[in-house]
Amino acid sequence: MTDLPFLDQVVLVTGAGGGLGRSHALLLASLGARVLVNDPGLAVDGSGGAARPAEETVELIRAQGGEALADFHGVETEAGADAMVETARRELGGLHAVVNNAGILRDVTFRKQSVADWAQVLAVHLDGSRHVTKAAWETFCSQGYGRVVFTTSASALYGNFGQSNYAAAKLGLVGLMNALKEEGAKFGIKLNAIAPMARSRMTEGILPPEILERLDPREVSPVVAYFASRACAVSGQCWAVGAGRVARAAIVESQGWKAPAGGWSIDEIAANLERITDLESALPLANLMEASAKLFS
Ligand code: NAD
Repeated sequence: MTDLPFLDQVVLVTGAGGGLGRSHALLLASLGARVLVNDPGLAVDGSGGAARPAEETVELIRAQGGEALADFHGVETEAGADAMVETARRELGGLHAVVNNAGILRDVTFRKQSVADWAQVLAVHLDGSRHVTKAAWETFCSQGYGRVVFTTSASALYGNFGQSNYAAAKLGLVGLMNALKEEGAKFGIKLNAIAPMARSRMTEGILPPEILERLDPREVSPVVAYFASRACAVSGQCWAVGAGRVARAAIVESQGWKAPAGGWSIDEIAANLERITDLESALPLANLMEASAKLFS
């Protein structure tokens, strides 16, 4: 690999005014990418708005000799997403990868959750990633090349108290990725997700300080750079990454139990619980066709 794997490439990073997004943008720019730094500068709950965070990331990139431009649109509207892609193409000369990183939190127990808490979190994470990916899709298809990085969360993969809106949105992204990897393959488009763990204003208050200290966002960004690069050899995968550890997280299916022909009882299901739930030789499945083939194997 060359020293500058993103030379002549343009990457759009959403929510790049701070935290993980800024770290991704700085690394990608140092690897030669021209970066569109998107961020409307919102508070963790999605309120407010400021130009400074995105501008500051751009200044940091320029200070290290890189090329970047700020964009202040919100990802949650199709018009905002279209405008970002248009700016990348017009001002930076194209688009090769999109890093869907923008996010907010409205943590609240399900009992107390309002429709607004639910809808706003889904709008930013799920609709936002959809809109930005969709805005880039035609460019990727017609040039026969594209990379999309989604940002999911261990909270969604495994569950966390008070985050039902966030978990639904973040796992929705995995479903979106699973479907799009099928549609994107013939156009040279690869889509993958990270489930990061990093110190940021989002996790300050949630994780204890001694853990936060060990969670430098810069130990997440190399995976984003890999997924966003030409070198990326996988599509439709989700990697958990933090504190310098990288591991694949996958939805798997157990070998299962073949029920007797002609129907079976609740008691028989109970009696075969171990075989149904045993993940010892469980495997991920490539797509719906493989899942349906497994039923008859
Ligand atoms: P952060 O709050 O520092 O960064 C989020 C950024 O997104 C902010 O700069 C914010 O202004 C921007 N943003 C919010 N709404 C937006 C919108 N509508 N359009 C465009 N930008 C918007 O937090 P972070 O920890 O750096 O989070 C980055 C991503 O990583 C988020 O998607 C988050 O859910 C995800 N994540 C983070 C962790 C972690 O450990 N930090 C864990 C799992 C997932």
